[in-house]
Amino acid sequence: MVEHVNKHFGDLHVLKDINLTVDRGEVVVVIGPSGGGKSTLCRSINRLEPIDDGSIKVDGKELPKEGRELAKLRADVGMVFQSFNLFAHKTILDNVTLGPVKVRKSGKQEAEKHALELLDRVGIANQAQKYPAQLSGGQQQRAAIARSLAMKPKVMLFDEPTSALDPEMVNEVLDVMTGLARDGMTMIVVTHEMGFARRAAQKVVFMADGQIVEENTPDEFFTNARTDRAKDFLSKIL
Ligand code: ADP
Ligand code: MG
Repeated sequence: MVEHVNKHFGDLHVLKDINLTVDRGEVVVVIGPSGGGKSTLCRSINRLEPIDDGSIKVDGKELPKEGRELAKLRADVGMVFQSFNLFAHKTILDNVTLGPVKVRKSGKQEAEKHALELLDRVGIANQAQKYPAQLSGGQQQRAAIARSLAMKPKVMLFDEPTSALDPEMVNEVLDVMTGLARDGMTMIVVTHEMGFARRAAQKVVFMADGQIVEENTPDEFFTNARTDRAKDFLSKIL
């Protein structure tokens, strides 16, 4: 899916020949120290950041660099950020229907029906007519997940989706993500939530200094990491 991707910010080589394959239905957790390039990798996969070279394919199709095709293919890649990025002046329902109506050219009624199903799936159907500021952080993040799902993405990227949340709201978001994983969604999740990784992921990728340092199963990674760099990192967070 990601092959030989390199990227610089000026002199900083932020992604160094990254290769990552994510199979359909697979959940990959990306973990590693701050500044290692995790967010840049997510943004590159979604073409929010241009890459210098290499290739990024979703479902076998290369994502174009720009143009109208990009909007369509980008919709195949859902993205959920640490900050929920909902439109503040729109209701939760409108937040979820906006993309499908604009990009997927769904009818409004059909989009609303689907949106309500998704809001139900993330447990906030009763909040559909409210504005983001009226919801808790955990509810807003679940709304953001519903909004991404509304585009029927082939893969979902999560960049530290729970790190801006109060501790008591972390699990309600992780539970929704675990449900998605069980339902077969292909997911790349940047998180330090070990419980989630063990429950939901098939693979852990440890990233530091712009490189993938270790790829392992969650069980092996957390109990018996192969690289000293990963062991050192784990000793600091666990
Ligand atoms: P992580 O998500 O693992 O913490 P990032 O991908 O955010 O890492 O950042 C990787 C490196 O790239 C950091 O050194 C960061 O300062 C740098 N960086 C990120 N975004 C930009 C940018 N837009 N311009 C310049 N440098 C950036
Ligand atoms: Mg980051």
